[in-house]
Amino acid sequence: MPEKGLQDVHEFLSSPRKILIASHRNPDGDALGSSLALARYCQLRGHSVTVAVPSAYPANFDWLPGIKDVLIFDDQEEEVVEKINDAELFVYLDFNHVSRIDKMGEPMAEKDTPVLLIDHHLEPDLSHEYYYVDSTASSTADLLFDVLTRWENTNYLKDELISTCLYTGIITDTGTFAHNTNSRLFGKVSNLLESSIDHIAIQNRINNSLTEKQLRLLGYCLYHRFTLIPEQKTGIIYLNKADYSKFEIERGDTEGIVNNILKINNIKIAAFFTQQPTIVKLSLRSVEDYNVADLARKYYNGGGHKNAAGGSHYKGLKSALELFKKVLPEFVKQHTNE
Ligand code: 5GP
Ligand code: MN
Repeated sequence: MPEKGLQDVHEFLSSPRKILIASHRNPDGDALGSSLALARYCQLRGHSVTVAVPSAYPANFDWLPGIKDVLIFDDQEEEVVEKINDAELFVYLDFNHVSRIDKMGEPMAEKDTPVLLIDHHLEPDLSHEYYYVDSTASSTADLLFDVLTRWENTNYLKDELISTCLYTGIITDTGTFAHNTNSRLFGKVSNLLESSIDHIAIQNRINNSLTEKQLRLLGYCLYHRFTLIPEQKTGIIYLNKADYSKFEIERGDTEGIVNNILKINNIKIAAFFTQQPTIVKLSLRSVEDYNVADLARKYYNGGGHKNAAGGSHYKGLKSALELFKKVLPEFVKQHTNE
């Protein structure tokens, strides 16, 4: 597992420091859970800590301990920049390169503040002073568990707030233990449950928290916007601009729609295209060895993980869909032969 300087960071944290924790745009349960777990740990150790993300978090994470203190660059740029300028350590969680956090990354990249990177995406930026990365790990929360255990044994994992946040990250990124799990992960989860967190309630808050509008939108997508290509074991859903205004779709309303495609027997690849005001966003999911991060990187200026990736297209929805259908047979053939 690539790592560098974890012990040095621990020593650095032996006196009170100003720390800025940053995570990615459209933060999910892993981005938020790992950031808030680390923030809580830092607070308990007497540090002054800020969590900042480029854009707003979904409303269904409102309950996460400490979330009200998270700064959102899109809305609070000045405050975030002030914290960036003050910080003695940046911690990058759940993204692989500073370019992934857009404009928020610019003032950070200009500073020579040391960086600790903890991440499970492919191709992490290993130019930083400190890192702990593993693209086979279930989640960043999973990796943060290792780091905290390395620093403190399991002492801090007994803290209910830290455990709640780490559990949230793991649940989010494994689809509640449906993928990316292994015996080591279950060992860690067993440890987290010892802190008497309400794990069933957390699962419900994450998995059963749709609004009526979101569930009806899912129904619409499956009925009107869904194409199956059985020969390529692939399903495609798209939403166009008119759909966005008809359903008054907001950020977060489309979260998770793509995963439903994989519920069909023998379907291995799922694609979800959304026509945004200026670009088309693509979300990809897969099972087995269909490495959709390859496809996202090669054709859609994107990336991600083997089984969950995304990217963008700049020539409209029709063109984005046509490109996908064009490159799909070759992609499937390549990954079947591996
Ligand atoms: P989602 O489909 O949930 O937006 O993203 C799934 C995964 O793909 C995430 O881990 C995310 O990091 C990655 N991803 C999504 N969009 C992009 C993109 O435009 N560029 C890169 N490099 N990765 C992306
Ligand atoms: Mn993650």
